[in-house]
Amino acid sequence: MNGRMILAAVAVLSLLLACCGAGGAENSDSLYVKKVENLPEDFIFGMDISSVLAEEKSGVKYYDFDGKEEDLFRILADNGINTIRVRIWNDPFDSEGHGFGGGNCDIRTAAEIGRRAAECGMKLLADFHYSDFWADPGKQMAPRAWEGMEIKEKKQAAYEYTLDCMKQLKEAGADVAMVQLGNETNGKLCGEKTWMNIARIMDAGARAVREVYPDALIALHFANPEKPESYRTYAEKMDYYEKNGLIGYDVFATSYYPYWHGTLDNLASILTEISEKYGKKVMVMETSYAYTAEDSDYSPNTIGEGGGIVKDYPFTPQGQANSIRNITDTVVNRTPAGIGVCYWEGAWITVGGNSREENQAKWEKFGSGWASSFAAEYDPADAGKYYGGSAVDNQAFFDPEGKPLESLKVFRLMRTGNEVTPVPDALEEPSVICDLNLPLELPETVNAVLTDESRQAVPVRWNLTEEQDRKMHTGGPAQYVITGEAGGMEAKCYVSMIEYNYMKDYSFEDGGEAWKFTDLKKADELYVEDKKTDSLTGSKHLHFWSAAKNSVEFTAEQTLRDLPEGKYRFSLSVMGGDCGATEIYAYVKINGEEAARSEQIPITGYNDWHAGVIPEFTCRTGEEVTVGIYVKCEGEGNGAWGKIDDALLNSVR
Ligand code: CA
Repeated sequence: MNGRMILAAVAVLSLLLACCGAGGAENSDSLYVKKVENLPEDFIFGMDISSVLAEEKSGVKYYDFDGKEEDLFRILADNGINTIRVRIWNDPFDSEGHGFGGGNCDIRTAAEIGRRAAECGMKLLADFHYSDFWADPGKQMAPRAWEGMEIKEKKQAAYEYTLDCMKQLKEAGADVAMVQLGNETNGKLCGEKTWMNIARIMDAGARAVREVYPDALIALHFANPEKPESYRTYAEKMDYYEKNGLIGYDVFATSYYPYWHGTLDNLASILTEISEKYGKKVMVMETSYAYTAEDSDYSPNTIGEGGGIVKDYPFTPQGQANSIRNITDTVVNRTPAGIGVCYWEGAWITVGGNSREENQAKWEKFGSGWASSFAAEYDPADAGKYYGGSAVDNQAFFDPEGKPLESLKVFRLMRTGNEVTPVPDALEEPSVICDLNLPLELPETVNAVLTDESRQAVPVRWNLTEEQDRKMHTGGPAQYVITGEAGGMEAKCYVSMIEYNYMKDYSFEDGGEAWKFTDLKKADELYVEDKKTDSLTGSKHLHFWSAAKNSVEFTAEQTLRDLPEGKYRFSLSVMGGDCGATEIYAYVKINGEEAARSEQIPITGYNDWHAGVIPEFTCRTGEEVTVGIYVKCEGEGNGAWGKIDDALLNSVR
């Protein structure tokens, strides 16, 4: 047996151990989950899988944790999901019967989903958009069949439609626990734009729901909790109509996507306020988090690499799980009547083709993309233009092959906790801003994010050659990504090479507070002026004017301490007129002593800017550097006037 064979034997042995472990030991889950205290038995763990039928028709398969192909509903039920959410569109088909996509979710689709959910012991949360396709804060178009209706007529149509839908759900055997009237109705619904009419549509829906499912909770659903002022308005409006006999509701529900929707502190505070003030139950109706930045279906995702989003957790299954765990904890323990958290489209994965064209064919045929080209008939400006696949395949609980991610276990494990030994899960990605003329200093350590969200500094080795370093310093202002290795993981550092200006308020846009003006002859006017046409850049500049002869003499300067040791260039620009004989120059003082002076800066007329330049001076550590301009004008005609702007203090090689 040679060394290599021994290694192979050990590998087989540990594989066997792992298998035995999975079968025998109770705690084989590697996902770290901090227990959510006080979690009620009947807390709603919802999952929106409105796309599931279209996905299945497209050939998508799902697997359980044993690697066995399984019904998605069964997999979800086995992993702690107790409620399935489904969107309902009135008529998501064109005049020839082609589906608009997004699962082609009409009531027949919803009823089938409700039936299958019930079969697996799960309840249904019905999400009426009262539209023929996507409704969200951006658009709330009325269904085509209701277009042009007066509110009275539309209200009746909404009632009859909802009643018919609820009957179909009942007939299918769906266990409807909650119905939301409208989707993300931030001031619009079904083509209506007044709260009065919105409340009327909601009320019509609510009456129909109660006739068929008297015990179902009535929910209203809003988006953008990061604007608490808006939420106060929504709750107040609804309260007003409720007191006047319209739209009694049970649940004030919100979307909460961590990238855009503010902090958990804010979420807790606004939901608490509304719950206490109006006696409503509250819940997170939609949330999701990316487990990877990669797209897998050739259709761009709402969240991916870059994009300037807030990223509270790494894009890993553990990060995804931690996000859900913390949202759940917030709803359970930091709001007085939090009843649930519903994840949005956790199984909308790629339809599996190897090209955009291959996938596109399925999206068009089965409606498994977010929109098909046929949606142009209803929504030409958006869906009709940008139709495509899943925009959230990287936020699912299944990989592109349909295998479940560890994160799917979070719903079950939140009840008991699974506080296994924390291990590094990802690396933070630091950003560095570097002056083109100063050495690039990359961090010596980066923080590893552990599975329990703690941080641990790890030494990092960056892949930066001298050649690359030189190119970055000579390539002008630009962005770079430097990769490296830390703790066995790939590290990334985002570097911005910039030409840094060490002046504060260099263009007077902040009002000149950082500057010191010494008006030696008491000019008639010497101040920062807000006038774009007279500024070199921005809208402000330093302005002077004085009528009397020899009444202009002043300095404008800034003193900088803690400048990095090195060589610098200083310049600023001037224009003006009627100045007569002048003495105008830029200067540098080191520790109060003049060290350099520019050539005379001429004054030659309106918008004819001239720069005073000190091409190079040296600053040593600890020295105090003062840079500024001296202006003296004899004046002629209407009195000396001028404008000063754009002081630049850059380091030079
Ligand atoms: Ca995609």
